[in-house]
Amino acid sequence: MPNVAPTTSNRLSASIDYQPFVAPPETHKLPLLRAYIDETGDRGILKGRASPIFGMAAVMVDDDAERSARQALGRLRTDFNVPSDRPLSWKDDLKNHDRRVHAANILSTLKGLRVVYVVADKSQLSDGTYRDDVTLFYNVIAYAGLQRVLWAARAWPDGKRQVKVHFSHVKKHDHTDTHRYFQIKKRQDKNVPFDLVSKLSWVSSDKYEMSQIADVYAGFLKAAFWPNVWQNTEGAYLLKIWHQIRRSEECVISLGMQVRPNSKLAFTQPWWPCPDCKSPY
Ligand SMILES: [Zn+2]
Repeated sequence: MPNVAPTTSNRLSASIDYQPFVAPPETHKLPLLRAYIDETGDRGILKGRASPIFGMAAVMVDDDAERSARQALGRLRTDFNVPSDRPLSWKDDLKNHDRRVHAANILSTLKGLRVVYVVADKSQLSDGTYRDDVTLFYNVIAYAGLQRVLWAARAWPDGKRQVKVHFSHVKKHDHTDTHRYFQIKKRQDKNVPFDLVSKLSWVSSDKYEMSQIADVYAGFLKAAFWPNVWQNTEGAYLLKIWHQIRRSEECVISLGMQVRPNSKLAFTQPWWPCPDCKSPY
């Protein structure tokens, strides 16, 4: 069992039995999507070197889109001279603007790939909320991501899809707690099509090549919302792949991008492309 956070006793998800999600037989007959989810920022309380935001990117692909995405990854790995024995990562391989522009340009051409984002602005979250429990913080953000993946799968352009969902494993996080949190939500939240989940797993970032792609998409989110030392954010990479964000043909808020606790963090960005946003979220 991985390390368990110290505040387990307060969480319902820490006290119920683990039960795997079993999809009904008809789910396995649906065409397949895979979702790869990676996070950016940390869940620490906002002080010192903690990140101002915590967010996730979920990249969704069918077989064709995954093949193209892996080719694009191969090209980026070559162009950035990434050694074959380790994953490409935003942190190590996309440190400068030129590389980020290049990655955004290459990835923006991928057809059939969809992404959904969740991002929390820690400075706007109140005392006593999920912000104060690192496990619950992860659970809440992961669930907002899962909801958006499943709503996207239900409304996929050529018909409903089953989804195999792969979250990137996070150090010192007990993902079974998140799984149990999802069990609670499945009972409560009938608007979320849990039956479309044909697999749910937490995997090391070196298990699937697509996790490297999810890491780069999470990096685009980070650049757009995490100010540098001069308080600047850079939305150019996110805007380059904007058309791949779910519902960007109308408004990404909130089915393609949820900003917590409200969209102020997005609406106040100088790069925000929807200045007269009518979204009530
Ligand atoms: Zn809008």
